[in-house]
Amino acid sequence: EAPVDAAFLRRWLESATAAVEREAPRLTELDSPIGDADHGTNMRRGFLAARTAVEQEPPPTPGGVLVLIGRTLISTVGGASGPLYGTLLRRAGKELGEEQAVSAARLRDALRAGVDGVATLGGAVPGDKTMLDALLPAVDALTGALDAGGGAADALAAAAAAADEGAAATVPMRARKGRASYLGERSIGHQDPGATSSALLVTALADTARG
Ligand code: ADP
Ligand code: MG
Ligand code: MG
Repeated sequence: EAPVDAAFLRRWLESATAAVEREAPRLTELDSPIGDADHGTNMRRGFLAARTAVEQEPPPTPGGVLVLIGRTLISTVGGASGPLYGTLLRRAGKELGEEQAVSAARLRDALRAGVDGVATLGGAVPGDKTMLDALLPAVDALTGALDAGGGAADALAAAAAAADEGAAATVPMRARKGRASYLGERSIGHQDPGATSSALLVTALADTARG
């Protein structure tokens, strides 16, 4: 299997940015009834800036690519999602250190650390109707598939399916964190925008691994 190197994560960034651009109207639409209708705009701004930053000065290591994307999201996205996704990617990148290429298992451990960083920063737990409801099942599925001896591409495909299911499962949840929580009961019946964008990002990772 192809190792996870800087080129792999640059291809992921291309694919993720394309997905965010394509789905930005839908992400903003999901953020209308239970938020402030800017999630697609926020994600689009952040990922376009990250792509530019990485193109201008491509980091030589996979960790460096993730740290640069994370830093750029934090500095360009005003909404809650910027610091949260920024923390995820920066933390994951730092976990990868200076290595030129890492295994899928190392990537999984780094993503787990990044998602833990999101939980610490945002204080959300599973069931709170946030991006964590897609991210945690994705990391769990990735772990399960790799532990069962699956290859990286299949394991990432399982993670993407779990993230999609996790995003869909936010519909009946009542939001307990972020803007949507201000709505209380009225947040029920809508899919969380951040969980939806998380599923897009994990799907882009699976697509990148499939090649
Ligand atoms: P804002 O709410 O500031 O406008 P966005 O619309 O870009 O920011 O992002 C909203 C998304 O951020 C939500 O759908 C949710 O998934 C996520 N989110 C908000 N607060 C938290 C939190 N405390 N922990 C985890 N995720 C959160
Ligand atoms: Mg918003
Ligand atoms: Mg906002």
